[in-house]
Amino acid sequence: KLSKRLECVASYITKGMRIADIGSDHAYLPCYAVKRGVATTAIAGEVAEGPYQSARQQVAVSDLDGLIEVRKGNGLAVIEPGEVDCVIIAGMGGALISEILESGKDKLSHVTRLILQPNIAAANVREWLLDNRWQLVNEQLIEEDGKIYEILVAERGDANHPYCDMKKELLLGPFLLRNKNEIFQKKWQQELDQWEKILVELEKAEKNPKTIEKQGELNEKIQIVRGVLE
Ligand code: SAM
Repeated sequence: KLSKRLECVASYITKGMRIADIGSDHAYLPCYAVKRGVATTAIAGEVAEGPYQSARQQVAVSDLDGLIEVRKGNGLAVIEPGEVDCVIIAGMGGALISEILESGKDKLSHVTRLILQPNIAAANVREWLLDNRWQLVNEQLIEEDGKIYEILVAERGDANHPYCDMKKELLLGPFLLRNKNEIFQKKWQQELDQWEKILVELEKAEKNPKTIEKQGELNEKIQIVRGVLE
């Protein structure tokens, strides 16, 4: 059975899309999506040998060899322009996801949808999307096994509304901000608690330009989040 997190990621695939799952590990996501007839075909990309072999094995035992191709390579290097409609990158940090998108930009020319699930630093991904003229069309928070995950869905185009409070929207997500549900409150309360702990430590530490800068950044984020939670 697929994890709730990946099931949720898969739910944003438009029926009939050809997908690429970059950093596919066991290829659970493409196997699920193709088996259910949501995606017509898939490419599972993996940079590491172990996960690449697991992906190949999973595709073979699922009897999906004809519909899912497992390719070994770094990021978007495994796809050719025009081969897929939708790129999925899940389960990595936001900085790595942005880096993969940035270095494979030329492969995205025919891609109409991105489904991204950063484990941390989603702001980094939102910033890349904004800078590269991809607009968010949906965002979702889900909780599984005590962890909270963010899922970002984007299509080509400029943000449909200019970000009015840029820092706040990049950090918290324009769609998630419109629906400050229980998981949202929980996630940001946890982040707040963590940042406040770090601040206490920084206050004890010897002052240098780096710690002062870090304090400034944390204080700014704390202020933004407090303003939203209250
Ligand atoms: N996408 C799956 C998920 O969400 O459950 C697997 C996530 S797993 C934590 C991250 C996978 O990404 C690993 O298998 C790793 O080898 C792969 N990976 C990391 N950097 C990559 C890159 N630049 N290109 C392709 N795969 C990468």
